[in-house]
Amino acid sequence: MSTYYVTKIRKQSVTNKDGNTHEHIIGVVTKTEAFYTNKEVVDSLDEGHEWYTEVKNEPKAKIKKRGHCPKSNCGHKPYLTTDPDHTTKNNLENLPRG
Ligand SMILES: [Zn+2]
Repeated sequence: MSTYYVTKIRKQSVTNKDGNTHEHIIGVVTKTEAFYTNKEVVDSLDEGHEWYTEVKNEPKAKIKKRGHCPKSNCGHKPYLTTDPDHTTKNNLENLPRG
């Protein structure tokens, strides 16, 4: 089993049928500069590999799968999330763009 450390995320801006625009995560970049789509990360999690966010001077946050994008009226899936802890800096959604 492998452990992956995510340092950046890639987001895409989408406009729903109701005209509202939001951004959601379409993939992640590991500290080895490799890009993985949400689906590839979910498949890897299903195989038992572990994924964490890595932010300097912050605890690592475990990445988990989530059914779909949390924004209303968006069915983008699969989606990824991290458990909120005492800091938000290591939340997947708050990582720098890559
Ligand atoms: Zn979305």
